[in-house]
Amino acid sequence: MQTFQYQQPTTVNQAVQAGAQSKTAQQYADVRFIAGGTTLVDLMKLDVERPNQVVDINTLPLAKIESAPGGGLVIGALARNSAVAHHPVVQRDYAVLSQALLSGASPQLRNMATTAGNLLQRTRCVYFRDIAHACNKREPGTGCSAIGGHNRMLAILGTSRDCIASNPSDQNVALTALEATIQVEGVKGRRTIPIQDFYLKPGSTPDRENVLEPGDLIVSVTLPAPLPGTRSYYLKLRDRAAYEFALASAAIVLKLNGSRIERARVALGGVGTVPWRSREAEHVLEGQTANAASFRRAADAALKDAQPASENGFKVELAKRCIVRALTVSTQSA
Ligand code: SF4
Repeated sequence: MQTFQYQQPTTVNQAVQAGAQSKTAQQYADVRFIAGGTTLVDLMKLDVERPNQVVDINTLPLAKIESAPGGGLVIGALARNSAVAHHPVVQRDYAVLSQALLSGASPQLRNMATTAGNLLQRTRCVYFRDIAHACNKREPGTGCSAIGGHNRMLAILGTSRDCIASNPSDQNVALTALEATIQVEGVKGRRTIPIQDFYLKPGSTPDRENVLEPGDLIVSVTLPAPLPGTRSYYLKLRDRAAYEFALASAAIVLKLNGSRIERARVALGGVGTVPWRSREAEHVLEGQTANAASFRRAADAALKDAQPASENGFKVELAKRCIVRALTVSTQSA
């Protein structure tokens, strides 16, 4: 591990000013914020992340979970994943988020990992995590070892010829289906970013994963007030029952009128380079009767642009069945 300077700001503004010293916002950034450290410390030990300065934000007052003034819920950036998952309002109004969080990692990791850290979770592509291999995300222009290599866990939606890494988070799939917004404090003040505008597909710059700039500090995530009668569900399919990343997952938020689907939000995990919102599936579902036929049409629409690599073609059908199953369960749960 490379040596680094450690600092512990006492205000959000101090943290932003410290972060703004970084020359880049992404890979090999000079300055990194640390909260739970469940991703960053691993990557520093592997020499994948090599910051000169680590800014510990754990003492900042950003861990509250509280009602939003206009309805909805504000989750502080430093709220631990376990605190969010077990919060009574989250369990009552945003079950999909609680289920997604509890399906991720282990209890010990969930007690440390934070909401903002989870938003910035990095890929589990084995070549990204091993500096002996070429990786465009880690070192732009060096090539992608996963294309033609081990890619069973990687993405089939939103890929490019430079990177096919999947986003590993469960939380972010649920937040996408819930249409969360992300509040960011930066050198130019505060701004709010809808989660669907936060992540960047790899394209020709896979090292750039989101729209954050140097100094930008995520301070909270806001969930909109749930529509009356909304139901939600998260289904995760993986190689083993716990402590494993998704091969495919589906986050569903539905509003039914009898058996008719009035409103649908569908997001997928394990298959996209970013938390994958499927407007195609939503479009198919809305206005339709909730039944096996409409669910399958939605699943087919969601995966119609899938581009599997050499080892992950099975994900296409797996993701479709995941969507159908999640829709089936979510419409039975009221
Ligand atoms: Fe790197 Fe992306 Fe290729 Fe993995 S898929 S080796 S992260 S460029």
